[in-house]
Amino acid sequence: LVSRQHQSEDTVIRVKHAEIGGASHVTVAGPCSIESMEQLYTVAAAMKKAGVTILRGGAFKPRTSPYDFQGLGVDGLKIMKQAADEIGLVTISEVMSPEQIDIAAPYIDILQIGARNMQNFELLKAAGRSGKPVLLKRGLSATLEEFILAAEYIMYGGNDQVMLIERGIRTFEKWTRNTLDISAVPLLKQETHLPVLVDVSHSTGRKDILLSCAKAALAAGADGIMVEVHPNPEVALSDAKQQINIEEFNAFWKGLRDSGLYH
Ligand code: PEP
Ligand code: MN
Repeated sequence: LVSRQHQSEDTVIRVKHAEIGGASHVTVAGPCSIESMEQLYTVAAAMKKAGVTILRGGAFKPRTSPYDFQGLGVDGLKIMKQAADEIGLVTISEVMSPEQIDIAAPYIDILQIGARNMQNFELLKAAGRSGKPVLLKRGLSATLEEFILAAEYIMYGGNDQVMLIERGIRTFEKWTRNTLDISAVPLLKQETHLPVLVDVSHSTGRKDILLSCAKAALAAGADGIMVEVHPNPEVALSDAKQQINIEEFNAFWKGLRDSGLYH
């Protein structure tokens, strides 16, 4: 179902005023985690002002350590819905279980399935039944074939609103958090008809090469970019090292638009 042989024309996903996979690029920006009303409103307002259409923010967080901040759960989703409705943004947030899909569905526009759950097959099946657009992240060690087959699960479940996002894979390299597999972009575009995005924050894990990686992604044919933005990254409750502040985002955003690659 995901293959180009099955459908030759690109899938375009429309969610409120956002269009993913169409003629224009899309940017998904926002904090790693929703932390408070003030934090989310600050980012949401800045993203709206910049012209970003999709606000990200995690409420159910897949943390490596059980002692780390696990997210605000449904309270976080309520904050996100309130901010997004008031400010006028489309929202995306991660779900880690079928039950969380039911909990999150009333509050968010797009479900994110994270790298750690790319092969959580019951979650993929539930996402297939959800009727909600789904952003599927590539697993930390997933081959492109495994990634595509995970998307196939969602489509086979009856949901044709699926987007793929390359977020870096595990290699021996230590200078980046993960290795951004730029070849995934043209290969996924070639093999599937689904929108393909690139998460420059989780793939690199650092702030200084975000713009170069985003340009590379667009040059390779990506439909959009995801980037983590926090009003004060130093005190962020998750991914403090890689999140950029609003000023840094504005510089990144200007750099991307000035490159002529973003349209
Ligand atoms: C995220 O986007 O919040 C996240 C946890 O990313 P990933 O699943 O790619 O690690
Ligand atoms: Mn993060």
